[in-house]
Amino acid sequence: MLLKITNANVLDGNGQLQLKDIYIHDGVIEKVADAGSETAGQAGAYQAVDAGGKLVTPGFIDMHVHLREPGYEHKETIETGSRSAAKGGFTTIACMPNTRPVIDTPETIGLVKNKAAEAGLVNVLPYAAITKSELGRELTDFAALKEAGAIGFTDDGVGVQSAQMMKDAMALAHSLGMPIIAHCEDNSLVEGAPVNEGEFAKRHGLKGIPNESEAIHVGRDILLAEATGVHYHVCHVSTEQSIRLIRQAKEIGIRVTAEVCPHHLLLAETDIPGLDANWKMNPPLRSQRDVEACIEALEDGTIDMIVTDHAPHSEEEKAKGMHLAPFGIVGFETAFPLLYTKFVLTGRWDLSLLVERMTADPARVFGLTAGRLEPGAPADLTIVDLEKEQEVDPAAFASKGRNTPFGGWKLKGWPVTTIVKGKVVWSEGQAN
Ligand SMILES: [Zn+2]
Repeated sequence: MLLKITNANVLDGNGQLQLKDIYIHDGVIEKVADAGSETAGQAGAYQAVDAGGKLVTPGFIDMHVHLREPGYEHKETIETGSRSAAKGGFTTIACMPNTRPVIDTPETIGLVKNKAAEAGLVNVLPYAAITKSELGRELTDFAALKEAGAIGFTDDGVGVQSAQMMKDAMALAHSLGMPIIAHCEDNSLVEGAPVNEGEFAKRHGLKGIPNESEAIHVGRDILLAEATGVHYHVCHVSTEQSIRLIRQAKEIGIRVTAEVCPHHLLLAETDIPGLDANWKMNPPLRSQRDVEACIEALEDGTIDMIVTDHAPHSEEEKAKGMHLAPFGIVGFETAFPLLYTKFVLTGRWDLSLLVERMTADPARVFGLTAGRLEPGAPADLTIVDLEKEQEVDPAAFASKGRNTPFGGWKLKGWPVTTIVKGKVVWSEGQAN
């Protein structure tokens, strides 16, 4: 199958936009030529998609998402989550194992891979749990899970409370050449608190989640990563203290990488309008000082990549209020326009910084062949209309989840076509 994308505005290595034609053969990028430079005879065999001068980037990569299947299909399925990802311009997503049952056996890894293949939309890479049922008591069979297709190990949703358990996990993962991906949270400091320990909690008489509950695990795990040599990746960094520890660890050569979510770059606890659980996520929205630390860390590379932590819940679950509702917000369909509008259009970031943190950087950290727009790379591509402006409309999401604090935000820079392995999997105007 031959496809060409004509009049594609492509970022070059210097962050400049160049008008190109992209030739795709059997799902792989064959050639990137100056727009219009090929003769009709040569190019005639290709089916054409005219990008019309819109931005074309490598497909976005999201290394932290919740697809909820098996077990929570009322929140999301692998199919609806994949469609939501495609609509947001994502072509590769890595899903978390905190499903029901937990993804902790080769069979459950196989189930995720089969469902993703049936959906046939985006590349779905499964993580497996570190401990059986994510209970923190007994390690899973790492070798068998790797063999079945797991790309790393994580108990995301909860922290691994025992340092010995984490050390054993790291040593085993390292022996298999696999990364440990850590949700950092010390339960003894949290005790069921729904929001950050700070102004909002004080005002509403709520228990708070302190910054140390995250940073203590980050610090502990960095020492364990140093001792074991494992590639240690920190999930959804939200605090100044964690960043300080990660920065220092990188400086002395410990193999640590990290991710941050759009909401932790855009919102502080002081933005929460009231006791609305669409503003409840874990880690919680922190102080403005933490937000600024996260932005700077992403800019200087201390934090390697942007992830959404897409975490759909039903409206009934989120209606239970700040105390009882589950943590999490959806993220696929708003990530790029949010960050483009609030950081690129405001002049704080170059477009290339945003694109790299959503493509080449996650690919580099996790050793993926995607994330590059060059011959030989998978033809996973996203076409973005940087001029298109519209309000975030949760009712129009492809995800089953409507739980977002960004409803009604007027944003620019919407993905309009998503291509995976040379096949258009979503385009504007198509029904969800
Ligand atoms: Zn988490």
